[in-house]
Amino acid sequence: MPLPLGHTAAGLAIHDIHSKGNSTASLWKTFAFIIVLTNLPDMDVLIGLILHGNGNFFHRGPTHSFLFALLIALLASNVWRCWSKIPKLNFLFCFLLLISHVVADAVLTSSPVSFWWPLELNLSTGYSGWREVIQSVFFGAFRDLGIIVVSGMIIFLNRLVRHKSIPLIRTRLVKN
Ligand SMILES: [Zn+2]
Repeated sequence: MPLPLGHTAAGLAIHDIHSKGNSTASLWKTFAFIIVLTNLPDMDVLIGLILHGNGNFFHRGPTHSFLFALLIALLASNVWRCWSKIPKLNFLFCFLLLISHVVADAVLTSSPVSFWWPLELNLSTGYSGWREVIQSVFFGAFRDLGIIVVSGMIIFLNRLVRHKSIPLIRTRLVKN
């Protein structure tokens, strides 16, 4: 399964494309949001561990759905209204961060997610205790190397295209 590092790398690529290099929000605050939102669906592992000692108990259920991404994106994009220290992030950006997790899990692993929950529910099977989860998060990150490399390439290509298109836009503006 993609791990926190892989999901975060995908989130950074989404941020790079979405912000078009014009992000006004604090970089560190945005980075914190990216980490939280791209990994939030896996909070079901933590809930399973706390309540049943098994990280797979609720895993890939409601938090790995389109509806969850929609609702949390709505919440996350409006939380700045209650607390001014929170960066103002738009709904689409928050939604893409959340749904990227679900899509990565669905595409890069063999076990299904509950994309259309509550119409479907595909919980993970088997047992995954504290030791297995901690080991996987801290020592299994190398498995996310593919996602990290691809995300890095997307950021690089996006910046290259953006850099080349700026003189083109300027030329058009001068002509007009
Ligand atoms: Zn997941």
